[in-house]
Amino acid sequence: MLNNETINKIAAGEVIVRPVSVVKELVENAIDAGANQITVIIEAGGKNRITVQDNGCGIAYNEIPLAFKRHATSKLSTIDDLESIESLGFRGEALSSVSAVAKVQITTRFTNEEVGSLTLFEGGKLINQRVCAYNRGTEITVSDLFYNTPARRKHMEKDKKEEMIVRDLLEKIAISHPRVRFQLSCNGRIVLDTPGTGKVIDVVAGLYGIDVAANLIALNYENKPMKLAGFVGNLKTMRNHRDDQVFFINGRYIKNSRLAQALDEAYEGYSMKHQHPLGIIFMTLPGRMLDINIHPAKTEIKILNESLVCLLFKQGIRETLRNTNLIVELGTVD
Ligand code: ADP
Ligand code: MG
Repeated sequence: MLNNETINKIAAGEVIVRPVSVVKELVENAIDAGANQITVIIEAGGKNRITVQDNGCGIAYNEIPLAFKRHATSKLSTIDDLESIESLGFRGEALSSVSAVAKVQITTRFTNEEVGSLTLFEGGKLINQRVCAYNRGTEITVSDLFYNTPARRKHMEKDKKEEMIVRDLLEKIAISHPRVRFQLSCNGRIVLDTPGTGKVIDVVAGLYGIDVAANLIALNYENKPMKLAGFVGNLKTMRNHRDDQVFFINGRYIKNSRLAQALDEAYEGYSMKHQHPLGIIFMTLPGRMLDINIHPAKTEIKILNESLVCLLFKQGIRETLRNTNLIVELGTVD
């Protein structure tokens, strides 16, 4: 028989595979908590320390032990809710998984409570909890990631690489949550600071530069049941890679090679071979057409009826390009 500690460690292995998994889960929790200011601090690529601070609703003193139990979530109560998930989290696995493989300190104050609390977990066990003064929101520090799972520890990349992965993820989250001001500090240096103005284009201008932002075409397309928003690049912003093709479905950052392919195809006739358009694309689909329950990391998403969705998507982009007179714009390039 496996004991509980081992079961939790195994479960943690599916959700938490490297520092970025911790950052993703903690930041998503902060967003779900209604924060509009989220600061992430990492040291040694997150291996030594990851801190996420938010100004969200906080967690009540008595709720802390429960929040760190597996399958304990405040966001989902029945199986019917799965179809109408609006929060980013819903499995109730993140905090328990993180605390199973690291040392965790959480300082928080629930909006309706007078004082805050400071709680320590180590290897999944609550070590200490006490009341303390705290302003607002939640701060979680995760140290010594994988200290008790040496195999995982060994599998992490060099600090710089882990740091890049974290930064990349935060950029994507920032694009899809323009109302939130995100800051990322790596080894004491601020490497990302988004404006939090509520406008996607402001985040994009900060990340890609004003020149790129000036060459984007706004997407605004509906062909039931699909809606498209966001931006695609004009012909001045063509790339020889696909790194700047970013897709969100129902607000969630996803990877999908068929959508990327469809985006390229939409430019056929406009662009040269082996060129890829820039795209920051928000697709809305009814929840019943998606299976987001496919993997805990949740970047892979299964689109039911994918071929149809890709077709509608391509049509939407082509129509947008046609309406923007790309040909004329092309004529003005050299
Ligand atoms: P899930 O997000 O799937 O519900 P988690 O393990 O990530 O599960 O979190 C457990 C619970 O802890 C959440 O449902 C939420 O009630 C609470 N929680 C976690 N992080 C925060 C936070 N930063 N602010 C407020 N509440 C939080
Ligand atoms: Mg969560």
